[in-house]
Amino acid sequence: MTAGLYVHFPFCAAKCPYCHFYSERPTAAGLRAWREGLVREAEAAEAAETDRAPGADGLRFDTLYIGGGTPSLLAPGEVAAARGLAETRFGAAIAEFTLEANPGGEGEGFLGGWRDAGVTRLSVGAQSFDDAVLRTLGRGHTAGEALRFCRAARRAGFDVLAVDLMTGIPGESAGSAARSVRTLLDLEPDHVSVYFLESVEGLPFEEELRRRPVDEDAAVEAFRRAADALEAAGLRRYEVSNFARPGRECRHNLKYWRYGPFLGLGPAAGSHIGRRRWTNLPSLAAWSEALGEGRSPRAEVVELDAAEAAREALVVGLRLVEGVDIRAIGERFGVDLAALHGRAIDELVADGLVIRSGDRLRIPPDRLLVSNSILSRL
Ligand code: SF4
Repeated sequence: MTAGLYVHFPFCAAKCPYCHFYSERPTAAGLRAWREGLVREAEAAEAAETDRAPGADGLRFDTLYIGGGTPSLLAPGEVAAARGLAETRFGAAIAEFTLEANPGGEGEGFLGGWRDAGVTRLSVGAQSFDDAVLRTLGRGHTAGEALRFCRAARRAGFDVLAVDLMTGIPGESAGSAARSVRTLLDLEPDHVSVYFLESVEGLPFEEELRRRPVDEDAAVEAFRRAADALEAAGLRRYEVSNFARPGRECRHNLKYWRYGPFLGLGPAAGSHIGRRRWTNLPSLAAWSEALGEGRSPRAEVVELDAAEAAREALVVGLRLVEGVDIRAIGERFGVDLAALHGRAIDELVADGLVIRSGDRLRIPPDRLLVSNSILSRL
């Protein structure tokens, strides 16, 4: 089974008020600590023979994903260095190399360089093409900048241009959401992710959501319209929030949903290999200090037994439109999923929330948006 390598870049020029991901302002010292820490962590992971996690059967890395944070703050030389690390330390034969990018800033001038550094897939956090919505979100770019950035990315010749949109934003009208989707489709993206804005306790955006609550039905309707427009334009939905032209699905993220192995480097990065998963310390200072002192940078390590791992594989796999093969999952982990979850599965099938054909289970497309409540029953 091929594995994915994820590198977390923990810096953003400014913090978006709705964001719960770990990031901090870039400083020369912070960037240096990140670079040095990455090399140390790669060496340690190699030395620890990461593929010896229980249930793992050897790792062959074929995707690299630099996420964040705002990895588009990285100049092409640094992106090339991350690729070099993946190749030299992990022997990666990279078939897909994703870089997350935000419009604005210096990124536009880096596009050709990133392409030359081997990036095959640029994932652009546009979120909306409406200036009022972008202001509400506190994003650091305008609609015009997002448009210009995506057009320039298209011209730069990445194999896949992926664009993220958000929905369920306070004050966003149905007309504005539809216009954003039309503008996006004019860019002819290969891949689109549409996410609902989440309300996370304790974030500055909580107050905004209290002041201007989102009409959930309207948000779901806006998502449905967006999904219809994307499908009509040839972008097939393949996961709850993700749409792609055939063959342009994100290979790296498919590993998460197919419960494949992935190794994360960098502060707050998550990893999952075999029946072990772990997350790194969610602080650049603590992560780099641990590595500098030869200690593990892991904050939490979870060893799953076979039944737990099989259940996780079932739950994440059902996020995919293709669904899961319960016999294959059972064989992979040496458990009988029908015996463990047969009753819950039967009930979900009887309620029309899961479709069963032979060993394959899947959630009907019109129910994918409520997949979390369906999956909580397993
Ligand atoms: S740019 Fe992305 S990672 Fe950074 S604060 Fe905004 S949403 Fe979070």
